[in-house]
Amino acid sequence: MNEQSGAPGPGELEKIHRYTRGAVDGKDLYTFSVVLCDNDVDRDGERFSTAALHELAALFLGKTGISDHSMRSADQMARIFDTEVEAVPGRVNCEGEPYARLRARAYLPRIAKNEPLIAEIEAGIKKEVSVGCAVARSVCSVCGKPQGECTHRKGQRYNGKLCHVVLDGPEDAYEWSFVAVPAQREAGVVKAWDAEELKKRLQTPGGAAFSAGEAEGLRQTLERLERDAGYGREYRARLKGEVVRLALLAQPELPRAALERVAAAAALEDLLELEKAFRKAAGRAFPVRPQLAPEEKTERPDRDYLI
Ligand SMILES: [Zn+2]
Repeated sequence: MNEQSGAPGPGELEKIHRYTRGAVDGKDLYTFSVVLCDNDVDRDGERFSTAALHELAALFLGKTGISDHSMRSADQMARIFDTEVEAVPGRVNCEGEPYARLRARAYLPRIAKNEPLIAEIEAGIKKEVSVGCAVARSVCSVCGKPQGECTHRKGQRYNGKLCHVVLDGPEDAYEWSFVAVPAQREAGVVKAWDAEELKKRLQTPGGAAFSAGEAEGLRQTLERLERDAGYGREYRARLKGEVVRLALLAQPELPRAALERVAAAAALEDLLELEKAFRKAAGRAFPVRPQLAPEEKTERPDRDYLI
């Protein structure tokens, strides 16, 4: 895999074109390499299995990365267009397995806004990234049981082997970002949290202390939840408007302000029920003629004049 920074290398522009709207000139792009994650233990005592790296290689294709959590506009996001799991000959991980890491190639439009970031990448300042992903399994490296279901402790040695958590079965990759303090030695791994896991953790004495990697995972998870909640609110607002509209169609004498207050206070499932009921009632009040139904033959005395 090409490790050069700058204009796309041979064959790379074709891969980039899978993600751009229309053809883009290579000289308008800046491409670079990043190591996303590896199969060795990070500062949080976690590592990906080698198989997980290969699955992540597919999941991260097309995923956007941000810098300093401040880049938000679409043209400021670097996008991954190629990934590869690479071995480093002679190097082994904490388990004595051949060391492997997931390398990605990303591109960024060469526009004025991106010049500071490009300069930082060129200077080697922006080298390490953290990744956000969801995994199906987090298991104890000593006994293979799900994390938290055994008495082995992360960071302790059992028969000379370092106990850690193995992340396996990646289900989704969300985003990647340049970070100042990555959780992993080579890169940063950020695990997505689910509410249950977080509740369990917060109920454990001392569980509210989070490592840098865990805190970053929480931040990304919260951001995603906020985004989803935004879609939810939008959906609810539209549904509310529809209930009020249909109710007034069915019963024009209903007071609009009161209807709007009731709809605003209603639970989502009630809104769905009301929408269904009022749609039916409104349909009875104003039968809708299917759009493709033939025009009814009506006597038009003025027709002759029109022709
Ligand atoms: Zn165990």
